[in-house]
Parts: sequence; structure tokens; C-alpha cells
Amino acid sequence: MPEHKWIKQLQLPEKLEKAAAAALRLVESEWAAVDSIAFANQRRILEAFQKVRLGEEDFQDSSGYGYHDRGREKLEAVFADAFQSEAALVRTQIVSGTHALTVALFGLLRPGDLLYCLTGEPYDTLQAVIGSLGSEAGSLHEWGINYRFHHPNAEGRIDPQSLDSTLRPKVAYIQRSAGYSLDRTALTEKELAELIAQARRLYPQAWIVVDNCYGEFVSDREPAALGADLVVGSLIKNPGGGLAPGGGYMAGRKELIHQIAARLTAPGLYGNLGATSGKRSLFQGIFMAPNLVSNALKNAIFAAAFFELLGYEVRPRYNEPRGDIVQVIILKSAERVERFCRAIQAASPVESHVTPVPGDLPGYRDPVIMAAGTFHQGASAELSADAPLREPYAVFLQGALTLPHALWATGQAALALESGDGP
Ligand SMILES: *Cc1c(COP(=O)(O)O)cnc(C)c1O
Repeated sequence: MPEHKWIKQLQLPEKLEKAAAAALRLVESEWAAVDSIAFANQRRILEAFQKVRLGEEDFQDSSGYGYHDRGREKLEAVFADAFQSEAALVRTQIVSGTHALTVALFGLLRPGDLLYCLTGEPYDTLQAVIGSLGSEAGSLHEWGINYRFHHPNAEGRIDPQSLDSTLRPKVAYIQRSAGYSLDRTALTEKELAELIAQARRLYPQAWIVVDNCYGEFVSDREPAALGADLVVGSLIKNPGGGLAPGGGYMAGRKELIHQIAARLTAPGLYGNLGATSGKRSLFQGIFMAPNLVSNALKNAIFAAAFFELLGYEVRPRYNEPRGDIVQVIILKSAERVERFCRAIQAASPVESHVTPVPGDLPGYRDPVIMAAGTFHQGASAELSADAPLREPYAVFLQGALTLPHALWATGQAALALESGDGP
């Protein structure tokens, strides 16, 4: 058994240090599995770079209309390959993951069409986009697009056999990560493959669209390789590699990307316009992404084992297959959630001196507390911890630019809980 001498550097009291050491022994083989996935993803992405013959000139900013931006075209070709798909749009004009998903859904759906969400109610901010909560201005509902969702089963799994076979959706929507929902788990690669296959059988007319946020490069097969038509996500999560300053992407079949491009810019203009600055960090970000995801997964797996040994319920457990980079730790009190988030913030490289407090965020129902002492505002693939303030007071821990930083901060969060009232 290799010895982790650095564990002393976590500077934890004996009880916590022992738990950390025991956790590390537990996770050896899970960490090794993460390494081999990172290797496969890194190789695929490296080859994508070489295929487009990337050069220094491709990092030039474009201006005005942004016609003939060769760097942008190469970036989109790299993303298409990274996501094992035909084509991609990668745009800094997309303000967030929610925006990317919105553009994709409005690009694909027409009045009278049905959007069927196969994985329960979608992520909080998508509720307003759909218009499922009421009369949200500009929602899909307002445009006459119908919406249904399928409930996860009692174990929090999505049972492909229980999908409603009488529906005729235009878009069968799959959210890979569970978001803030504790009623379901993130889809593992195997579950995602089964769900896509069943959706294809039941709804041959439908496009299968995956909200890929937090799921990118967690496995070596992306949803398109498992049969999805489109994946969508944010550049301040996994595929930005911690370096992209913002933006969003869609990757999938050419025909869908074309329809979405008509909505992103305008019919006739499609993806041919869009002045893009800062391409160097977008390229470097997707190149670094497998490494960021591997750091994030290793810290998540460690945290699962560590907090379980300390007596907390965690999801998933350290040795369960993962579908995203998120680690849920159930803390059972608002006070513990705040302690945890304050400790993560205090252990951050940016704004370590500020104290996160719960607040209302646009698009979220309950007050949310967010510790994100990140280089990019709200970049939750950098180490971050957040939680909606509601029962059972679970904290969502994710991201890691570097593994030593994430492990240090995770140790500090445990210490902060310990100096409170314990589990
Ligand atoms: C973060 C996230 C989104 C939305 O992304 P934003 O960039 O915050 O708008 C959508 N779905 C899931 C599963 C997410 O994790």
C-alpha cells in the first residue's frame, strides 16, 4: 500500500487525519479507474487538436461579424470530436448552461411539439425556460410547446421500462447530472446507454437531447457515442477546463446543429458569424478538461469515503459508479451547510476573505448558499460547494483545478463540521 505522506500536510487533528488516511486506502482502485478514463479522453482530445492542425494564428481575436474565423471553426471541430459527434457550436456569446439549453430547445421545438423530460423535473433554471411553474415571459409554454416529465423510481433511478410509450415527443430530454434533486442519482454511462436505447425504440421520431452539464469526460464515451443526437453544456463547467472565461456549447448531429445555429444567430447566417475573443483559453481549456475532471472525481471519491467514515450519509458512495463530478454530503442542518460552505470559501484562492451567505438567485426556488472562491464567477468546475437551503440540508461539492487544493479544502470543511456539533 503506497503511503500518502502528504496527508500530514492537511494539518488535521488525529481523529480526522486517521479518517483521511483510511479514506485514501479505500479509494485506491477508484482513483486508478479515474486515471484510465482521463487517459482515454486526453488522447481523443489531443488527436482532435492535431487533426485541425492548430497553430498560433488560430488564437487571433476576430471582430465585427466574425466571418471566416478559422480559429472558431477549428474550436468547433475540436469540440465535435471531443464529444464524439459530427458538429458543434462553441460560443462565448452564450451566457451560461441554461442559455445554451434554451437556444437548443427553441432551435429544435415548434408550436404543438412535445418536450418529454425522461429524467424527472429538469434543473431548477430550466423550469422557467419550460414555463412549468407559471407564466414565465418567453417560455416554451408561451410558444405553445407541450411538456411532460417522467418520474424517477423510489430508488432514485430512471427506469427505461416505465417511460410513457403513448407519448410522441419531438425532443426526448435527458439530464445526466441530478442537479440539486435528491430524488434521483446521476446517470452512469451504462444507465445513460440503456435510457437512450429505450428512448430510440419508443420514440423513433424524437431527437434525443442530453443536458451534459457536470457529466463531460466522466466516462470515456460521451452521450453521442451512446446514441444521443445532441449534448449541451456550459464552458464554466467541465469542458472549459477551468480556463474558459465563459460560454456554452452544443455538439451533435449536423442537421440539429444547423437548426440550432438558425436560432443562435439568424436563419441564413447560422454558425458563420460570431466574433470570438480569447480563443487561446477556450482551446487550452478543452485540452485541460480531462485533467480537471480527473482531479474533481478524485476529490469527490475521497470526500465520499472521508465523510462516510465521519458518520455522514453521502451520495454516491465512494465505490459506486459515477455519472458526474458532484458529491452530495447530507449534513441535516442549515448551520452545518453554512459551516461547510464557509470553510470551502475560506480555503479558496479567490475571495477567501468573504463569507458566503444564503441568498436568492434568479431561476432558483429556495435560497442558495454558494462557496465559489473561483477565478471565474460561479465556475463550479473549479472547487466549489453549494446548497439550496432546504431539507435534508445536503451540500453539493464539486470541481478541482488542482487535487492538492481540493483535498486541503475538503479537510478544512471536515474540520469546520467537527468544531460544530458533529454529525
Ligand atoms: C449548471 C447546470 C445547468 C445550468 O447551467 P448554468 O450555467 O448554471 O446556467 C443545467 N443543468 C445542470 C445539470 C447543471 O448542473
